Amino acid sequence: MTNDDKRPGGADSFDVIVIGGGPAGYPTAIRAAQNKLTVACIDEWKNRDGSAAFGGTCLNAGCIPSKALLESTELYHRLQEEFATHGIKVSGAQVDLAQMQKRKAGIVRAMTQGIVALFKAAGVTPLQGHGRLLPGRRVEFTAHDGTRRELSARHVVLASGSAPIELRSAAFQAPHIVDSWGALDLDAVPKRLGVIGAGVIGLELGSVWRRLGAEVVVLEALPDFLAFADQQLAKEALRHFKKQSLDIRLGAKVSGATVKGGAVEVTYADAKGEQHVTVDRLVVAVGRRPYSKDLLAAGTGVELDERGLIKVDHSCRTAAEGVWAVGDCVRGPMLAHKGKEEGVNVADLIAGRYGEVNYKVIPSVIYTAPEIAWVGLTEEQVKASGREYKVGMFPFLASGRARAMEQAAGFAKIVAARDDDEILGVHIVGPMAGELIAEAVLAMEYSASSEDLQRTIHAHPTLAEAVHEAALNADKRAIDSLNR
Ligand code: FAD
Ligand code: AMP
Repeated sequence: MTNDDKRPGGADSFDVIVIGGGPAGYPTAIRAAQNKLTVACIDEWKNRDGSAAFGGTCLNAGCIPSKALLESTELYHRLQEEFATHGIKVSGAQVDLAQMQKRKAGIVRAMTQGIVALFKAAGVTPLQGHGRLLPGRRVEFTAHDGTRRELSARHVVLASGSAPIELRSAAFQAPHIVDSWGALDLDAVPKRLGVIGAGVIGLELGSVWRRLGAEVVVLEALPDFLAFADQQLAKEALRHFKKQSLDIRLGAKVSGATVKGGAVEVTYADAKGEQHVTVDRLVVAVGRRPYSKDLLAAGTGVELDERGLIKVDHSCRTAAEGVWAVGDCVRGPMLAHKGKEEGVNVADLIAGRYGEVNYKVIPSVIYTAPEIAWVGLTEEQVKASGREYKVGMFPFLASGRARAMEQAAGFAKIVAARDDDEILGVHIVGPMAGELIAEAVLAMEYSASSEDLQRTIHAHPTLAEAVHEAALNADKRAIDSLNR
């Protein structure tokens, strides 16, 4: 007996249909199958070579390829800048960009094929092609070969993701003016690279190409660097990026970009008036917009807001009975782990289990060097709330492990309430900050106090001791740094 035969409504009827197989959609499908529901996951992603692949933006054109290139280029950078300090002499090191890109593509392929294997093991029906929600929880599925089927489900989960925002003043014009996907696929290191937007994606991509030798200028409209982050953290990060010769220009709003003679002339306005900069390649990294092209037929009852986000309640229910939406296509930070958590939560709710997403405790990570990570409220936000608070800091300069790694830039910072000592926010700029933040996330998930962290034994010598010492410093009881 096949899975199809077991379905009460036949081969085209499922308990759950998920539209979108990115990091929000595919975990929804797997958890629903774990919950003994019949599930299909429809995904239309096609890579540049025409191959279909699950995994969405994150695996194919976002989180994973960017981290692959960040890792390779950081190794090259450290080889040039640090190895001599370690007493290792290297000469003749060269970048083989084709090999670097090949390695990246191999990782992406392995990870996306992994989803197919996970689907098979869990019993999820994979459907590659376009999904369109019709009224009454029916779904029109158009396979990549053009064949069409109508499916039905008790529940439909929309996970259609997001797409890069295009600027009217700097419209995409490959290969000169590209989006983040194009910036990950450059086949030569540009001599001069322009990046519009000093957000997470702009900084990561700018770092990749800077480390390979490009002169990188980043144009950011806002006057403050990383305006959404703790400003002490942002200042420390900016200091290090400047040392790396990333030319970050704040308060610089781009108003035009023209391709001329193989280069791009960019016009922007800053406090001094109109400015110009010429680059060989321009990356537009000004954010992402929710994507819902041809997703909803008339009469489904699903509503979009003015930004194009699918309207949902706290538990990701849309206005249509039995239709849910998760990930980048709904409100909240556009992060893979946020979408994943929403997806598994929805799959549990559908199965009648308990589920809750704690939106207050979603970590953010910027995978530059030094790495930047935080969770919870910034010091500015706590100050504005009027709640009395205390701050604990620990510089990585005082960490034996960080020094041994030759990675002693940055600090760990903890903001805790004065009244009940609850941890309100943790901000780290330094080595492996993205890994270190997990401890703070767990602590905050359990409403821990700074004393809880102070009394937790941390192995020595580890980077994690920085979080421990920052907690101790909040009460001026640090051992390994001056209690300022
Ligand atoms: P998506 O990943 O966009 O997936 C949606 C999928 O649905 C796609 O495959 C799409 O083709 C498919 N689809 C859409 N409509 C239909 C339809 N009608 N029928 C069938 N299929 C459809 N986030 C992090 O957390 N960490 C990072 O380090 C990170 N790095 C990033 C780096 C870059 C360069 C970029 C661009 C993004 C990065 N992000 C990162 C953001 C992250 O990629 C997104 O938050 C995440 O992919 C959102 O997941 P999603 O499943 O909601 O949407
Ligand atoms: P993010 O949303 O984190 O990906 O960051 C995108 C960044 O691009 C934001 O900091 C915006 O301020 C910035 N931005 C948007 N439009 C422009 C523009 N025309 N010129 C320069 N920066 C811009």
